[in-house]
Amino acid sequence: MSFSVDENGYYGRFGGAYVPEILQKNFESLRVQYLDIMNDPEFQREFHSLLRDYVGRPSPLYLAKRLSEAVGAKVYLKREDLNHTGAHKINNTVGQILMAKRMGKTRILAETGAGQHGVATATVCALMNMECIVYMGETDVKRQYLNVQKMRMLGATVVPVTSGNKTLKDATNEAFRDWCNHPTDTFYIIGSVVGAHPYPDMVAKFQSVISEEIKKQLMEHEGRDYPDYLFACVGGGSNAAGTFYHYLDDDRVKLVEAEAAGLGVDSGESAATIHLGSEGVLHGSRTLLMQTEDGQVIEPYSLSAGLDYPGIGPIHAHLAKTGRAEVLAITDDEAVKAAFELTQLEGIIPALESSHALAALHKVKFKPTDIVVLTVSGRGDKDMPTYLEYFDKK
Ligand SMILES: *Cc1c(COP(=O)(O)O)cnc(C)c1O
Repeated sequence: MSFSVDENGYYGRFGGAYVPEILQKNFESLRVQYLDIMNDPEFQREFHSLLRDYVGRPSPLYLAKRLSEAVGAKVYLKREDLNHTGAHKINNTVGQILMAKRMGKTRILAETGAGQHGVATATVCALMNMECIVYMGETDVKRQYLNVQKMRMLGATVVPVTSGNKTLKDATNEAFRDWCNHPTDTFYIIGSVVGAHPYPDMVAKFQSVISEEIKKQLMEHEGRDYPDYLFACVGGGSNAAGTFYHYLDDDRVKLVEAEAAGLGVDSGESAATIHLGSEGVLHGSRTLLMQTEDGQVIEPYSLSAGLDYPGIGPIHAHLAKTGRAEVLAITDDEAVKAAFELTQLEGIIPALESSHALAALHKVKFKPTDIVVLTVSGRGDKDMPTYLEYFDKK
């Protein structure tokens, strides 16, 4: 069985490209060019030099001794939290801005929920002197004041979206509408392994630098280039896809994904897409999504803004349905508890998203000799108000 994308953009029966007619040309021109551009040595050179000198890669692979003791296995943390802008998202936006440049585009569009992808996009647009327009639901604009101010300082135009629930889904619709009106000069930077082909594959490839580094770093630490387990959280699934990428077909390595159960999988307030989702088309690809019987998308809930997405990248739908990956649903409470645990054991304050992966460590029975690599997708600065409020309540 293959876990890589086929030439039509499918992972098993998930993926594909379901796009409106007016944008078909855009997707088609990206589809026919992206692999050649990415494989061009000059592109690779520029991408990797920015990853090194601008993002700060390679990110460390850190043996967390005290956490290992608590968990009962040898746990390494892949420190994406130490990247410029504080998360893994920058790996992808650096890649896509270079892609946009190569394709002769001058205007960048993005949508953002919590603002993390918006900030990562605005950052690379400042770096490359490109016009940047970020669509964001009005509710999120109010909730994520600091990120909005960062985007503005970076020179981006933030457009508050007032339709629908005024959140991510509505922002995505508006961004698509804008793209339909500017199909020739505009490049759309997607923030995760979601959307129509070739985006999921392109984003996974940009993020695959994570597993490329894990291989080398494990070799140095352990004298073997694979772990027994890989752990990552999944919102859309880009940090997980990057963490798994070079191990997808290596069945010595168990893949564990943590999705957000919110108040509980069966509470009605959850973002556990893989547990609760059914098959359908969302944002241009066939995948699992949270929807009612008649196909209305259900508004997801998680304390963590980055995991609060009603769909999942098609690669993860495939990994879950084939049993290649084990998917654990982690509640808000469990995630916050894991955030405090990591902070107190290792002096690392993780992002709330990453804390879901950390909590999942306690749900797996390890052998003491097992080698585990867990990706800390981001740092917790942005989540301090949430952590403190939670702390005060208890
Ligand atoms: C956005 C975000 C996520 C979720 O996105 P994926 O595409 O699933 O990786 C996870 N962690 C952090 C820190 C984020 O900012």
